[in-house]
This record gives sequence, C-alpha cells and structure tokens, in this order.
Amino acid sequence: MHRALARGAAAAAAAPRPPPGAAAGGPSAAASFSGRSAAAAASPAGGRRVAAAAAGGGGRRVAVVVGGAAGLAAAAALTAAGLDVTLFEQGRGLGGRVCSRRVDGGGGGDGAAAAELSFDHGAQYLSPKPAPFAALLAELEAAGALARWHGAVGDINASGSGVLDLGSFRPGGKALYVGSPSNSAFGRALAARCGPGRLSAHTAVRAHGLALEPATGRWRLRVRPAAAGDSGGPASEPWPEAFDGVVSALSANSTVRLLGGGDGGDGDAAAAPAIAAAAAGVRSNVCWALMLALRRPSGLPLDGALIAGGGPLAWIARNSSKPGRARPAGDAWVETWVIHASPEWSNARRDARREQVAAELLAAFAHAAPCVREAIEGGGGRPPLALAHRWNNAYPLNPLTAPPPAEPGAPRLVACGDWAAGPRVGDAYASGLAAAESLLAQL
Ligand SMILES: Cc1cc2nc3c(=O)[nH]c(=O)nc-3n(C[C@H](O)[C@H](O)[C@H](O)COP(=O)(O)OP(=O)(O)OC[C@H]3O[C@@H](n4cnc5c(N)ncnc54)[C@H](O)[C@@H]3O)c2cc1C
Repeated sequence: MHRALARGAAAAAAAPRPPPGAAAGGPSAAASFSGRSAAAAASPAGGRRVAAAAAGGGGRRVAVVVGGAAGLAAAAALTAAGLDVTLFEQGRGLGGRVCSRRVDGGGGGDGAAAAELSFDHGAQYLSPKPAPFAALLAELEAAGALARWHGAVGDINASGSGVLDLGSFRPGGKALYVGSPSNSAFGRALAARCGPGRLSAHTAVRAHGLALEPATGRWRLRVRPAAAGDSGGPASEPWPEAFDGVVSALSANSTVRLLGGGDGGDGDAAAAPAIAAAAAGVRSNVCWALMLALRRPSGLPLDGALIAGGGPLAWIARNSSKPGRARPAGDAWVETWVIHASPEWSNARRDARREQVAAELLAAFAHAAPCVREAIEGGGGRPPLALAHRWNNAYPLNPLTAPPPAEPGAPRLVACGDWAAGPRVGDAYASGLAAAESLLAQL
C-alpha cells in the first residue's frame, strides 16, 4: 500500500464524528468544502481531500464514484439519509461538465492577456426542469451560488456558408441560470448541501477498478492519482475502506470501463456486466469549444445563440455578459466568448491539434459575423486569447429511457449519469436522485 494511502486511512479513522441529526446543508458542510484552497488536505492516492472525512463508528459508508451533477445529487440524498459518503473525482474540482476554466496570462499559447480570465467552457446554462432540479436551482439562487443570465439568448439561422442572419435572431425568453461568480460554483454548492461531516470528497483521484468482496459482501475500489493518466505511472491501489454500497455516476464510456472490467488493464472481472452493456449502447459526440477574448467590443447584438443551418458553429455565447463574470483589466480585453462547434464538425476533428482547431473556429466565427472580424482587426489582428478545449463525451446522443437494469450479481451497486436519463444537467441530477433512492431501498 502507498504510504499516503495508509496515512489517509488512519486520518479518516481518527476524525471526530459529527453530531447525530445535524441538519443537511448547514454551515459546517459548506465550510468544509468551500475551504478547499485553504484547508484542502492531502488525500490518499495523492489527490486532494476537499471535504472533511467522517469517522466510521458503525455508520454505513457508500462510495460515490465521481462528482458531476449526478454524483453530487446522489451524495446529498445519501448523506441526508444518514449515510457517510466517500466521493472520488478525477478532476481538480467538482461539478463535472458544469465547470469553468481559468486561464492566466500566457496560458493560451497565443499571447494571452496578463489578466486572469474565466470561461464557462462546458455546460452553458441550467434550465429549471425537471421539477426537483427547478427546486434545486431556486434554492441555490437564494443562496447566491447561482444567478439568472438576463442576456439576449435565443436561436439564429446561418446561411449555407455559415454567415449569421442577424434578422433571424429570436430571443428564447426562458429562465437561464448560471453559476455565480462562475459555473464552478455549482459543484461547490451541491457538495455543500451534503450532511455536515458526512461527505469525504477526494479530487484528483481516479477510480480504477471495482470488485465485490465475497467474504464480506462489501465493495472494494482501486484508485490511482488522476495525474497518472490512463496508462503509465503508478499502479492503482486498493482504497483503505470497504463500502456497503456504490453509486457509479460516470459518463457512458467511463461506466463501461469501470463496471465492464479492468479500467486500465488490471485484470478485474466485470463488476456489473449488464449495466456496462447498457452504457455501451449509448453513443456520445465530441464537442470542440473555443475560449476567445477580444480587445475591442464586437457589437454583436446578442449574448448567446443556438445556430441552425449547418456550418462549423453550433453555439456562441458572450461569456462576459453572464452575471458576476470578471470585468476587463485595463485594455487587455473587453469581452470574452465561448464558441461550441457542431457535433459533425467536432467528430471529424476528434484527433486534431487544439491550436489548429482554435484557428479554424476563430476564422469561422469571424466569417459568421463581420462585426467580429472587424473587432479582431481593429484590436491588432490577433485576439489576446483563442484557446480550444475538446470535450470527449459531450452529450449522450441516445440516452436510456429507463434507469439502468438492476444487476443480481452486483448488490447495492447503482449507476446514473446523463447517459442514463437525458442530455441535460437536470436529467443527470434527476438520475442521481433516483440512483440514491434505489440504493437506499437496498441497504
Ligand atoms: C460543451 C457542452 C455544453 C453543454 N451545455 C449544456 C447546457 O447548456 N445545459 C445543460 O443542461 N447541459 C449542457 N451540457 C450537458 C451537461 O453538461 C451534462 O449532461 C451533465 O453535466 C452531465 O452530468 P453527469 O454528472 O452525468 O456527468 P459529468 O458532469 O461528466 O460528471 C462525470 C465526472 O466523472 C469524472 N470521471 C470520469 N472518469 C472518472 C474516473 N475513472 N474516476 C473519477 N472520476 C472520473 C469526470 O471528471 C466528471 O467530473 C453540455 C455539455 C457539454 C460538454
């Protein structure tokens, strides 16, 4: 066992137990998570523990594999029911595809401005459906973690060659929620709703293998530092604790890898072959995103638009028009944009270099809106930042229409995620709640 793993197990065992019956979502849960940068501790497996661990003390402990909307929904429901939850997330923060990317000076490889910029480069906004998600959004708005985006956001047509027909723009008039001050606030706020002291969340830790212990009927997870990547680096290690139940809230592809046997070639038997087979039938697309800063205002008379009519662009959003986003520092930049390429265009460039993709998407945006081209030319011909990011599993194209099958050989293991429900954050959240309910019924 890694020494760090052993240390982490001892620390978890020694941690004080929270008072029984303490209210879920209270201040101590919020403080333990939001103190991440100040109080984040070393985690077993070399990751970061970003929420306080609760001691065992006879309580039932559940592993929630990953911290996107689905996993965090399940974690909150399980801790509210009095269970202790250990959550594993390979990313540096929580929230999954609802996140923001901070880019500091020089980070774009394209002469980025000195000021730090933040982009919501994944999910753009949260819509209040289904009903439990609408209730959550209202709660998080009241708590200041979300705000309404009142920009001019709607639908627009493009010509066959990809030029926007500005006259066709139709504002949507829907309620649009975004994280405040950035979309990263969403994951933090969801984690803070977990019962005080009942969530032990570990980021930068990759779940790598899962097996049922025949002697005890409990689940054992193997993990490795996320920095090690998919291959190479240190071998995975068993997590020190065994779990009474497991919620798998991965994307479809990752579900297949974890539950279908041997994520990374460690020779595991499949933990849940029927669930893995259901996930394997769900296809998803690549989405290339461009994060762009402009030195001059574009004058484009809209803040966000879904583009119909073909061409490389599917969505454009003036990121800086969202509430609470950073204001420009000096004259380094005046507005920021997030551009999403269409599924067809993105899939065809799955393996392209990101510099090439950034250049192509910038050219496509300038072509789509002449005022953008003029703003770029007026700002010296080269934007201060144009950085591309590839989302490998952006949306499930054919999500399940019913929850994943129960698996007789995998007791107290439930799976969820957008692939199991629908292509929106609200769907993922609802599937996480349903998974928690199903697990509670089995415990
Ligand atoms: C570009 C883009 C734009 C979108 N726009 C919108 C929008 O405007 N509105 C909307 O409602 N939806 C939007 N979506 C869809 C929405 O983001 C997703 O449906 C939703 O966030 C999925 O949540 P989830 O919890 O199922 O998965 P995720 O959020 O993907 O969470 C899964 C987590 O698993 C982690 N992980 C993977 N493998 C491992 C492992 N082995 N060990 C540990 N951790 C692991 C990942 O890091 C990730 O954090 C968009 C998606 C993309 C990509």
